Amino acid sequence: MPSEDSRDLYAILGVSREATQEEIKKAYRKLVRKYHPDANPGDAEAAERFKKINLAYEILQDPQKRAAYDQYGTLGDAPPGGAPFGGFGPFGDIFGDIFDSFFGGAGRPSRGPVRGENIEVSLSISLEDAFSGVTREVSVPRQETCGRCGGSGAEPGSEVRTCPSCRGSGQVETQQRTPFGTFVSVSQCRDCNGSGKKIDSRCANCGGSGRVRTRHTVEVRIPPGVDSGTRLRVAGEGMEGSQGGPPGDLFISIKVESHPLFERDRDDLHARLDLKYPQVVLGASVEVPTPEGTDRIEIPPGTQGGKTFRVKGKGMPRLRGSGRGDLYAHVFIEVPRDLSEKERTLVEALAQEMNVPIQSTGLMDRIRQLFS
Ligand SMILES: [Zn+2]
Ligand SMILES: [Zn+2]
Repeated sequence: MPSEDSRDLYAILGVSREATQEEIKKAYRKLVRKYHPDANPGDAEAAERFKKINLAYEILQDPQKRAAYDQYGTLGDAPPGGAPFGGFGPFGDIFGDIFDSFFGGAGRPSRGPVRGENIEVSLSISLEDAFSGVTREVSVPRQETCGRCGGSGAEPGSEVRTCPSCRGSGQVETQQRTPFGTFVSVSQCRDCNGSGKKIDSRCANCGGSGRVRTRHTVEVRIPPGVDSGTRLRVAGEGMEGSQGGPPGDLFISIKVESHPLFERDRDDLHARLDLKYPQVVLGASVEVPTPEGTDRIEIPPGTQGGKTFRVKGKGMPRLRGSGRGDLYAHVFIEVPRDLSEKERTLVEALAQEMNVPIQSTGLMDRIRQLFS
């Protein structure tokens, strides 16, 4: 049976998940020298190890395969909910073929380590938090090893016996004779759910499952620049594994709330810039809102409604890569609804000067007076 670490490619090479390609190569070369069959004649364990090292390297040295592996953490278990990308997506075959030969197929009933399920949590954050990044505490459901029985499922002090149905193997075979021969199918033992053990008295805390549902607070650091649809992975914060398997991962799906001032388009922001008639006619220095405050821009004389000004580098930070997107200020010309007496006179004078027909209230007043 594989130990917990034998499914972790990084552990096989003895490097961290953050290791550079160069470090992986170095670690690989060292291990290959150590476990090479020529250096260990007749040592079956070393030979097996040598094969695993080569397999791990085959995946980790290829950035694409490595990324796919990173996304799913370890091999052999599909993400919960039946795999959004169909198992391991384009890499399913590669991983499946390689690892089936070593660790047995994922579909086969097995008492070996089983990786815990992944957990998916959605999280709404404000645009401000998406801009600056934020740390949030997320409460996630989890299955943990029962503290009362230590995961055995048996009431402390009671006996755990070998399952009589499967004699401890955890699986049962059924034979079927057909004209084409005898077919043997292997399935998980129902009496012990594949554990191979039978419990006299079930643990009062977990009911014999060996696991309890809890909630668990995970501190999640949300980097600047996330957008709706961003999926963050927190390794090892998913469901606990069973039979010594590693835990699953926690995935955080981000939703960025809408903002009263800004509309977001990937890394760019769009804002409405309300200007008064004299400002667009004569030009002005005005303030535009930015995520961190305001910025001053120059409006040239004769600016038309609908014109867009780009404020470079004042958009959202880029999640991947450096720098920021741009801010676009869209000009809207504000037409006043309530004019003071003086403003009215001035606008009327302007209309007269420009020789444009208007509805003169002065004239209307005089007509009204005539007929009252
Ligand atoms: Zn228990
Ligand atoms: Zn059994």
